[in-house]
Amino acid sequence: MPTPRAMVIVGAGHVGGRAAQALRAFGWTGPIVLIGAEPHLPYERPPLSKGLLTGAQDAASCALRPAADYDADQISHVVAWVESIDPVQREVVITGGPQRAERRIAYEALLLATGGHLRRLDIPGADLPGILGLRTLDDAAQIAAQLQPGARVVIVGGGFIGLEVAASAWQRGCEVTVIEGAPRLLGRAVPEAIGAQVLALHRARGVEVRLGTLPTAFERQPDGSTQVTLNDGTALVADTVLVGIGIAPATELAAQAGLALGRSGIAVDAQLATSAPGVFAAGDVAEFPSPLGGQPIRQETWQNAETQARVAAANMLGQGMAFDASPWFWSDQFDHQIQVSGEPALGASVVTRPLAGGASIDFHLDAAGRLVGASGFGPVSALAKEFKLACMLVERRRQPSPEALADVGVKLKSLL
Ligand code: FAD
Ligand code: NAP
Repeated sequence: MPTPRAMVIVGAGHVGGRAAQALRAFGWTGPIVLIGAEPHLPYERPPLSKGLLTGAQDAASCALRPAADYDADQISHVVAWVESIDPVQREVVITGGPQRAERRIAYEALLLATGGHLRRLDIPGADLPGILGLRTLDDAAQIAAQLQPGARVVIVGGGFIGLEVAASAWQRGCEVTVIEGAPRLLGRAVPEAIGAQVLALHRARGVEVRLGTLPTAFERQPDGSTQVTLNDGTALVADTVLVGIGIAPATELAAQAGLALGRSGIAVDAQLATSAPGVFAAGDVAEFPSPLGGQPIRQETWQNAETQARVAAANMLGQGMAFDASPWFWSDQFDHQIQVSGEPALGASVVTRPLAGGASIDFHLDAAGRLVGASGFGPVSALAKEFKLACMLVERRRQPSPEALADVGVKLKSLL
């Protein structure tokens, strides 16, 4: 019997690790090769901007699975950069090792789980050694070492990375300034009402937030600090600068191999299949059909990585499973949490439900009165339980009356 070709996964991040695990769990007995550029086994990224910076968590606790599980499942983890893929020969080309030798690995099916690359600022000084970004465990270790009490931390970007790191740095006793070019926070990700509440929380805790402001240059000072010049003519002095201005999906392998791309990621169908036979894509890099009927979407979230990995693995084995999970994500900042379910942007009207303990949930309804999203914010203890029910309502596309949604006397459970 010839040895079967391998199931090959490019990108040993969240999706890569879970997909390898699922392939074995779903009964694949041939080789599994998990190739990633980072020197670590797959790990979860959410703690990198939270517990790992505050000191509440260590690197080992971020692991997706214990190292022994990869041995037990006979998953071969290769640390290397994948240079190209050949969808005709069904091979990936990698370079690695001390000689950076080229090696080809034949695949039975291939999963592209390459995530994204940090966007960089295009201004003088952006490449100076102390201008930091956050994507990997190694980035987080470098940033954590800088967050000493009293350190002046300037953060460019009022998105998730910027705000979560701001909260963590504040918890470590740093003096924190966030610079955001837009007139509001979290512009890409949450409805405006939540952005305003998050702004109020950060300001109340003493984080300086400058909206409508962009950096124009970074300059190293003789004492090792960095001068951050801003477009309003002022300047800040920082001991640490973090740039968190989003990611660009890592589509380069797919583009070079001629696979179809969407507006912002690798185009896949509901089974996460790309335009090349036997090649799938999942996670931050994949643009898939909206489960709620909107434009194709790309999700940069933990839940998306977790669920798409399993669907992709099933389909690499020919199971024809559709991905139809409703989007969901959370963000922890201080003792507060944001949660968003579904696609609030598809909503035509909003109903607010106040919760006890200072939290609230906005329900987003389409023109027909169907729930297409929910967004919540408040202290974790006040939000978590009620938001689970909100998620279920969105997943089931319920059509409750706006009066019932807004009335705290009506239990959400009763609307399911
Ligand atoms: P990744 O985890 O980025 O993995 C991709 C891997 O592919 C990388 O290791 C990369 O090195 C490798 N790779 C790329 N190209 C190649 C190549 N050519 N050859 C070899 N290897 C390659 N989501 C939430 O819902 N809630 C949160 O609170 C939250 N917090 C987050 C905090 C941080 C700091 C970050 C960075 C992300 C956070 N996320 C959160 C998002 C979530 O972690 C991501 O959506 C998830 O990690 C995506 O998984 P992925 O496997 O698609 O990509
Ligand atoms: P992000 O959420 O996309 O936010 C980027 C922020 O930077 C936005 O406010 C954006 O404003 C701003 N920005 C963009 N270009 C800029 C420029 N040239 N100059 C100044 N500001 C600019 O991305 P992120 O916060 O960097 O996060 C990166 C990745 O980590 C994403 O995949 C994210 O999902 C993930 N992550 C997720 C969570 C979570 O879900 N809780 C937590 C941390 C990280 P505009 O929108 O106006 O362009």
